[in-house]
Amino acid sequence: MGGNGQGGVDSEALQKTIDRINRKLRERLQNKKDSRPARKALKKLEGDYLVRLKKYEQQAETLRGRNSYARTDPDASSMHMKEDRGAERPWPKPAYNVQIGTEGQFVVGFSVHGQTGDTSCLIPHMENLRTHLGRLPKNVITDAGYGSEENYAYLAEHAVGNYLKYNTFYQDTHHFRKPELIRKRQFRAENFAYDPDRDEFICPARERLTFQYASRYTTDNRYVTDRRLYECHACDQCPLRGECTKAKGNRKIRISFRLLEYRRQARANLTSEDGQRLRARRSIEVEPVFGIIKQNMGFRRFHLRGLEKVKTEWGLVCIAHNMKELAAS
Ligand code: SF4
Repeated sequence: MGGNGQGGVDSEALQKTIDRINRKLRERLQNKKDSRPARKALKKLEGDYLVRLKKYEQQAETLRGRNSYARTDPDASSMHMKEDRGAERPWPKPAYNVQIGTEGQFVVGFSVHGQTGDTSCLIPHMENLRTHLGRLPKNVITDAGYGSEENYAYLAEHAVGNYLKYNTFYQDTHHFRKPELIRKRQFRAENFAYDPDRDEFICPARERLTFQYASRYTTDNRYVTDRRLYECHACDQCPLRGECTKAKGNRKIRISFRLLEYRRQARANLTSEDGQRLRARRSIEVEPVFGIIKQNMGFRRFHLRGLEKVKTEWGLVCIAHNMKELAAS
């Protein structure tokens, strides 16, 4: 049976198999041979497997790399709402991920996405800004949801100031008085000391993690990232094991040196004088705009369905917001 080139079977390959069995069945009937097992297999393939496979293919097409979609609006994904925080049963609802860029509380660009996470929205959002503004912004400052290697590489490629926080930025830059938190930090892979001469990492127990192999991943946006795997071979008897790893075998760490370097740059930029000024400004720039639109203008849900219509609706909301700002200035 043929496949889809990824080790699976697609409906086209299954249909070819069904046709082949049909041909064999006809031959067996002509030769008056027993055709019951073949007929049974055919019934299963045609009536069950083929029907289900076509349905799954259709669903995969609708998902376009997302984890979910809403029946009432296939362009929307199921997301948890901020309003439902603390609710006893916070059901996810069909929703869109809205991104905006602001300057002086005016919306200068927006994009609407079906993806739940913010990480994959940054590059399409930037490209959208470039189309509408004719250029990219000088600096980009975001919260910790955007700090991926792919996003950092995009900013570096386009010479845009990298002020993207990453998921552990807060822990890395705040002095914790709690000793247990300080202790926990030292077991994170990125905090292991690195010996460049021997290409080895050194863990808190002063044992060495040696290089095992390198692997390459390609993201949905065709960004290629290289990861190197290091393994410690002294974890068996280690008194720190309980704090260090829950793995059955040795502690292994997967490292992208490019990502570590991008994070280091982001941390240096964010903690610089300019970075501190931009961070302070961000909190009075983007967040209030969402607050004004949701609370003052009372816009809490989209009235239209489908990505293109929702984009238009959000565009109108942003224009209305900018006009209000202009009238108040
Ligand atoms: S468990 Fe292994 S990697 Fe972790 S501290 Fe102990 S020896 Fe080092």
